[in-house]
Amino acid sequence: MTESASPELASSATIEDAAVLIHKAERAVVLTGAGISTPSGIPDFRSEGSGLWSHDEPMEVASLSTFRTAPERFFNWFQPLAGQIFSAEPNAAHLALAEFERAGHVRMIITQNIDGLHQKAGSQNVVELHGTLRMVSCTNCFRRFEAGPYLQPYIETGKIPQCSNCNGILKPDVILFGEQLPQSAWYEAQRAVRQCDLMVVAGSSLEVLPVARLPMQALDRGAHLIIINNTPTYLNVRADVIIMDDVATTLPKIAKRVFHG
Ligand SMILES: [Zn+2]
Repeated sequence: MTESASPELASSATIEDAAVLIHKAERAVVLTGAGISTPSGIPDFRSEGSGLWSHDEPMEVASLSTFRTAPERFFNWFQPLAGQIFSAEPNAAHLALAEFERAGHVRMIITQNIDGLHQKAGSQNVVELHGTLRMVSCTNCFRRFEAGPYLQPYIETGKIPQCSNCNGILKPDVILFGEQLPQSAWYEAQRAVRQCDLMVVAGSSLEVLPVARLPMQALDRGAHLIIINNTPTYLNVRADVIIMDDVATTLPKIAKRVFHG
């Protein structure tokens, strides 16, 4: 890491540089992580200090094996997080990205988040690499349902959601620890990354594999790279523009430059 946090890093020059790259881009791909959703009140459940790790170890309780052997433990742990996600609203960063897509600058958003806030903000082409809380699937008959009618009562009462067809336990369509990434989403993401002319990393520390390798694949094919994140990432040394600041304050500033000069 050669970069260090400094108030100058989000100076008007870097905002301008990012705006120029996004304005020129025709096939930009944006990779978003937990940092874009924390301003919407969603804790990063993979990081310590979020309050969700105090009683249980998430790698264990949010794992596929715990879900299979002791689903009540998973659902007890997940209840407050599910509540926060369900009541969350998109923030200025989500809205700016949706605006870039509508204007034809951004082709795809690849997200590590499960909260559906990009879609709520109006983004159309969103690939959810860690699944989504917007749907649930029956672990017995494999039917899929919109999550709302099933998860809302669970969020309120803690009662494990059950399938209306067979009473089987419903699993949120989120990828748990120990579970494979959804293959079609992964292929779709890789295809877009190989074709992109600009990769924007927004609110991801690029610490979770294999997702963290996607920007490298874009760079290797000649794409530009913008990284907007509170903390340094392993690819800062190769980025065209680095802005170490909140995405919710930075992306609207860039959008303003792109759309209003
Ligand atoms: Zn069922």
